[in-house]
Amino acid sequence: MNAEAAAGIVIVGAGQAGVMTAEALRSGGYEGSITMLGDEPHGPYHRPPLSKAWMAGEIAAAQLVMRAPEMLARKNITLRTGVTVKAIDRSTQTLILGDGSTLPYAGLVLATGSTPRALPLPGSDAPGVLALRTRDDASTIADRLAACIEQERPVVVIGGGFIGLEVAATARKKGLAVTVLEAAPRLLGRVLAPVLSDWYAELHRGHGVQLMLGAQVAAIETGADGAVSGVKLADGSVVPAGLVVVGIGVSANDQLAQAAGLACDRGIVVDACGRTSDSSIVAAGDCTARRLADGSLLRLESVQNATEQGKSAAAALLGQERPFTATPWFWSDQYDKKLQMAGLSMGADGWAVRGDMAAGTFTVYHFKGEQLIAADSVNASKDHLLVRKLLDAGVSPTREQAGDVGFDLASLLVK
Ligand SMILES: Cc1cc2nc3c(=O)[nH]c(=O)nc-3n(C[C@H](O)[C@H](O)[C@H](O)COP(=O)(O)OP(=O)(O)OC[C@H]3O[C@@H](n4cnc5c(N)ncnc54)[C@H](O)[C@@H]3O)c2cc1C
Repeated sequence: MNAEAAAGIVIVGAGQAGVMTAEALRSGGYEGSITMLGDEPHGPYHRPPLSKAWMAGEIAAAQLVMRAPEMLARKNITLRTGVTVKAIDRSTQTLILGDGSTLPYAGLVLATGSTPRALPLPGSDAPGVLALRTRDDASTIADRLAACIEQERPVVVIGGGFIGLEVAATARKKGLAVTVLEAAPRLLGRVLAPVLSDWYAELHRGHGVQLMLGAQVAAIETGADGAVSGVKLADGSVVPAGLVVVGIGVSANDQLAQAAGLACDRGIVVDACGRTSDSSIVAAGDCTARRLADGSLLRLESVQNATEQGKSAAAALLGQERPFTATPWFWSDQYDKKLQMAGLSMGADGWAVRGDMAAGTFTVYHFKGEQLIAADSVNASKDHLLVRKLLDAGVSPTREQAGDVGFDLASLLVK
């Protein structure tokens, strides 16, 4: 890219990845224009609290704000909210916006995020069947939760992934009756080892959630008012509901990129530096599928991924190499338990537990052969921070050392 070209850099998406890219461009010395376009009515905000502290009423809406417009203005970053990019014309390096106007770019950042998967079942468009992605989604769910409290109606969560379980925990904190319907035989099956899935199942049952594993949802039932009244299962039984929250995963928003002919494979394909198949276009965050050294593609949906890819993508536009190679990490808050995950545990063939699972303070270390590849910590932040250092350094304890609270894992880092 000719970074100093008059057209400047345009960022599509005013979320985590968009903001991080914009700020990294400025801190990397880019002095041209930066325009960030977001289709939501709000400026950049933090999504993680939507299902946690904000929905539980523990923090105010003001605390969701990621960057106030004035702060972006101080960095000379132009934010335009309520603007949808409809198409990319790569031949003229121009964006076509929702109102038909156009915007040229010298460098383009795609930071379009992801969209919750819809439930492909009859009745799933009924009022009261809701997914959670945006601030507006969260407000609608919060209003509905309040109505359920008033009318003493139960909540059903479809999908035992992180967002579904966080909403379930929040609804239980508010005293609502909650049922979680999960199609798989265990919770969080795509991301957690069975030992932790079982632990989370017990955590939720212990807080009074009715958990139905292997549940096959057949349809959404509606009442006389047309709104949701329950969830019908394949065996014909109906679980009553005043609110159904659907959390069955997300798909990358790669439609713009696909239509423009960029390489996509369930996400915009990028290298470790966020480069797409077009040298003037980079991508970052939930919308991407990152090509790893072994040729496989990795899709991550996390704040860290959006942040690090944003920094890498900014560097790439400035002609620098800043590959994202750090250990992936993620967190989830449910009740008074903070899960912190480091590394990727898929492919693990064994684990060691350090701490006390019954007391709810422990870390599960995942091994592939003799190599530590990941660790999941519950209310054990020190373990989490240390394991990130071990993984970044490529240093592995033995399974015995990992599971032995008497062994100082930090000593492995001392040269
Ligand atoms: C409820 C919830 C809880 C979460 N909790 C955690 C957590 O605990 N820990 C964690 O690490 N991650 C969590 N995440 C995930 C994390 O928030 C995302 O991975 C992160 O926000 C991704 O950032 P992004 O910039 O890629 O996408 P987004 O933040 O989704 O931003 C993309 C933006 O682009 C906009 N956009 C899309 N297409 C267009 C277009 N054509 N024109 C203009 N604008 C467009 C979208 O509307 C959106 O505003 C959570 C997510 C949710 C929804």
